[in-house]
Amino acid sequence: MKSSQSQPEVKASPETPMMAQYRERKAELPADVLLLFRLGDFYELFGEDAQAGASLLGLALTHRQGMPMCGMPVDSADGYIARLVEAGRRVAVCEQVEAPKPGRLVRREITRVISPGSLLDPSSLRSKENNFCLALVPGRNQMGAAAIDLGTGEFRAGELGGEGELADLLCRLRPSEILLPEEAADPRTCRTRDKGLQALLGACAKPVLTRHKKWAFTEEHASTLLLSHFGTKSLAGFGLAAAPLALSAAGGLFHYLREELRQDLSHVRDIAPICRADLLVLDAVAQRTLELLSALGQGKSFLEAIDRTLTPGGGRLLRQWVCEPLGDRTRIQARQDGIAFWAERDRSRRELRELLRTIRDLERLLAKVAQGSASPREIGAIKDSLKPLSKIRDLLALSGEWASRRGDLEPQEDLVAEIERALVADLPLSCREGGIFQSGFDPALDALREAAESGKEWLLAFERSERERTGLRSLKLRYHPVFGYLLEVPRGQLSHVPSDYVRRQTLANAERFTRPELQEMEQKILGAEGRARELERELFRSLQQLLCARLPALQRAARALNEIDVAAALAELARERGYVRPEMVEEPIVEIVGGRHPVVEQALVGERFVPNDTYLDGRHARLAILTGPNMAGKSTYLRQIALICLLAHIGSFVPAARAKIGILDRIFTRIGASDDLASGQSTFLVEMQETANLLRHSTERSLVILDEVGRGTSTFDGLSIAWAVAEELCDRNRCLTLFATHYHELAELARNRSAVRNLSLAVREIDGEAVYLRKVVEGVIDKSYGLQVARLAGLPERTIARAAEVLSGLEAEEEDPGSKAVEARRRRRREEAEDLPLFPGWQRQNGKEGDRVG
Ligand code: ADP
Repeated sequence: MKSSQSQPEVKASPETPMMAQYRERKAELPADVLLLFRLGDFYELFGEDAQAGASLLGLALTHRQGMPMCGMPVDSADGYIARLVEAGRRVAVCEQVEAPKPGRLVRREITRVISPGSLLDPSSLRSKENNFCLALVPGRNQMGAAAIDLGTGEFRAGELGGEGELADLLCRLRPSEILLPEEAADPRTCRTRDKGLQALLGACAKPVLTRHKKWAFTEEHASTLLLSHFGTKSLAGFGLAAAPLALSAAGGLFHYLREELRQDLSHVRDIAPICRADLLVLDAVAQRTLELLSALGQGKSFLEAIDRTLTPGGGRLLRQWVCEPLGDRTRIQARQDGIAFWAERDRSRRELRELLRTIRDLERLLAKVAQGSASPREIGAIKDSLKPLSKIRDLLALSGEWASRRGDLEPQEDLVAEIERALVADLPLSCREGGIFQSGFDPALDALREAAESGKEWLLAFERSERERTGLRSLKLRYHPVFGYLLEVPRGQLSHVPSDYVRRQTLANAERFTRPELQEMEQKILGAEGRARELERELFRSLQQLLCARLPALQRAARALNEIDVAAALAELARERGYVRPEMVEEPIVEIVGGRHPVVEQALVGERFVPNDTYLDGRHARLAILTGPNMAGKSTYLRQIALICLLAHIGSFVPAARAKIGILDRIFTRIGASDDLASGQSTFLVEMQETANLLRHSTERSLVILDEVGRGTSTFDGLSIAWAVAEELCDRNRCLTLFATHYHELAELARNRSAVRNLSLAVREIDGEAVYLRKVVEGVIDKSYGLQVARLAGLPERTIARAAEVLSGLEAEEEDPGSKAVEARRRRRREEAEDLPLFPGWQRQNGKEGDRVG
């Protein structure tokens, strides 16, 4: 017996015309797409689709003539569709595209296909995140990439140099779907032997992978498609003329979204580069350990802590800024100017933010207009969001940073007035039932409504006169969706019913009748109502077209509003928390006076955050070794420096009294194994992979944050690795490094290297207890205060007392050079060290580490 993957088998009875229609539609789709087939007020799934749908959605599976079926009401379908898509399935919706006529098969067509990358329903998307579908075309040395966020119309394309760039891109865009040409190898399961990179790719979000027809990715097809979409003669203006792989990716993506997913792309109007050389790169590891987008524990993420935006579009843009910090001083300074403008004007900023509060998700609403799927209520929301445009424009100064944006905020007063004149105040969710347009807007609609209305008045009068004529006091006019208007007479009075009444319906306690003039009026009323509904739908379509015609200008305004929202939000943050504008310089330098951790300082209640200074530069202070007991504030200090640098590179002000920050190319982080909850792999292995990655890729312009290296192995292994890594970073990579460690021995590195600084977190011992001062000072800490921390943590007093005993014994042994125990330990340490080098070029020179750079 043959069994097909995509097409359910009906074994028992001959096929009905509807089943044949179902199969036809199903055959239009790739096998993995689930087909929701409209039957009246339900969407039904059949065959294998039904089995998959029932188990994913927990719906009841039924069988009819051997065919598995399950269904969902049309009104609640969006939620079900979103769940199927979240489960990684693609879903096609097949609608009835004509009014049902008795005895005839209704025409049905697939109107949309929803995949993770084409999900548009606002309730199933996070409002402050983009939703990108990313196409990749692997080439010999390079890779083409193109991404579209259908909800906002953003389109980016370009070529990536290698797998490292792919990993960075995936971290920045976090696409929900990746599209590849059939047969192409998945570049994420990369051929690289770079283990650090593999770990990185593994740490990126896991999008759904979709394969699409190979020919759609050919250069020729792509260029024809894009030229006709953008209505241009050449693609040079879009930067695609000399980037064949990018062009292929863009073409494949367009074809997939338009033809296979049946999405309208008219709101996709321009192309931005997908990757720029002038970005500060934060890879997936840095994004995670700095908790940029999501917190690892209970608290807030960095983004949540700094986000003061008021519109969803502003929220999305701030997220992009955080994921794509700039590496270009001029662009950073332009952003700073924009923020400074609002920071210096408290009144205007407050006024602006009041206006921004009334703006809805304009970009995504406009995308729905482009798709022709905006509801009356959504058009109303667009109008409300356009209203404050001219006032916002007036707040932008005529000169300076925001002057150029004034042109983008074309006040759409005529459009707003037109929509206001057209639509009622309390709009329905769908246009099916009418009731969208105000009276006085369209004379023909008014006439139809009047006809229906006067018909209803006639009905009331008719009911009254029939009561009088027949003497039936309890005679009532009723409406039934199938039988129409009827006169209802209670069973007890049936003997008084006149002979000209025609019986239509029998109920338990009454009978219902009709009369010719009633039927005639019913025709008039229903006809008028039906035509009014039809007319409203038509008027609504032209209203949508009116908006469509203005789409480019409206999208420009929406994007300008996003930028204004983000700048004002960062200004608000700066004013609220006392941030300052950092001075940006070209040479790699990090000079912070009175720096604070942007997230921790907000989270502290009843406790003051102690500000700290930082100085790093390429010549005199390349490597800072930071020691201090547990809980002293080492991690906080390290992260605060990385976050201040990041804030500076997104153009924001920073939590400090003063700051001078040089342009960086990357920020690397390696956070101790004990804090790392990476699953699956051995934490020590992950730690080494991450360390390998930063050793391989950090440059003189990189900031490297190391919070313990080598803790996941034995002391001597660990110390040796930590030592070698610190040396390598300082001498070879020459990056700016902050290295927090409990290996006090590393302080030795400073002895013959002028670029190494020893820092520690000050602790005062009062009555045997450690008091953390949270102050970073020059020098090495003299002891580790382990016992004091153990006491703070609540270790029983007797255990602490015993540990103190053991400790003093060990210290005494250490002081007696002849002790056998110490001699044995020293020997072991020497042997282990000789087992190295783990890293090339690392050699001991007579027991002293040599500064190869001099
Ligand atoms: P370590 O890395 O040395 O173990 P942490 O950086 O985790 O220490 O800091 C421990 C706690 O101390 C943090 O949770 C934070 O609340 C507090 N803390 C750290 N730095 C400061 C500071 N500069 N001012 C006030 N509290 C701080």
